Amino acid sequence: MKFKLYATVVSSLVFTLLLTNCSTTPVTGRKQMNLVSESEVVRMSMASFEQMKAQLAISYDPEYNEMMQRVGHKISQEVFWDVPLAEWEFVIFDAPQVNAFAMPGGKVGIYTGLFQIVKTEDELASVLAHEIAHVSARHTHERISQAMIAEAGNTTLGVVGLMSVGSLATSGIMSIYNVGATGAVAAWDRKKESEADEIGMIYMARAGYNPEAAITVMERMVQLDGGSSDPWYSTHPSSSERLDAMHGVLEEAVEEYEKAKEFQF
Ligand SMILES: [Zn+2]
Repeated sequence: MKFKLYATVVSSLVFTLLLTNCSTTPVTGRKQMNLVSESEVVRMSMASFEQMKAQLAISYDPEYNEMMQRVGHKISQEVFWDVPLAEWEFVIFDAPQVNAFAMPGGKVGIYTGLFQIVKTEDELASVLAHEIAHVSARHTHERISQAMIAEAGNTTLGVVGLMSVGSLATSGIMSIYNVGATGAVAAWDRKKESEADEIGMIYMARAGYNPEAAITVMERMVQLDGGSSDPWYSTHPSSSERLDAMHGVLEEAVEEYEKAKEFQF
């Protein structure tokens, strides 16, 4: 009887949290659960990024860095309202991975290996916009929130678990971005990848970059795929499926691009 009452309290608490803690993704307008505090997630992300900068080799290649800062600045201006509490930073790590990531708080990293498939400024914009879209769509918050709900359902310490947001945010950020000796790589499910593709294409277009470049980069990835052990392929699954979905977004993105070009002149 006592347990039953406890179970009812926990489930109604979880239900209330689900009802009252919703947010909406930009561009796609999807309703999502959000149980974590923005400032906590941002604080932990910033700490993880600092740790990476201290541990990994940073590239100071002037050409790459100039392009990275220019593109990063333009996109960060475009997403100003979608990424709260951001202190933007764009860093190139000197490592062979064909990969990139962005963390809450505006911390963006790419690896020099990315330049194997990224040749132009538009192409770099497509990668940065995609990664920043994961942040603005609060995929990190969603993953941590789901872990909290799972924990609440699985343990008798559920209620306590729901309240210890700080520790969950710490372990959540570290595990989501898999921060380690070789850098950080975030693996998202296919739905979140497609959502970031769509939002990213709109962002880059609004920032004045040709969204067709996103398709060029994805085509190169599909070509490179198969037999490669690079983390990009395991963390960015089903490239050909994503490519199809991206073609579906292209028309709308091109319209945004045309509007942005008009605005510039
Ligand atoms: Zn992604």
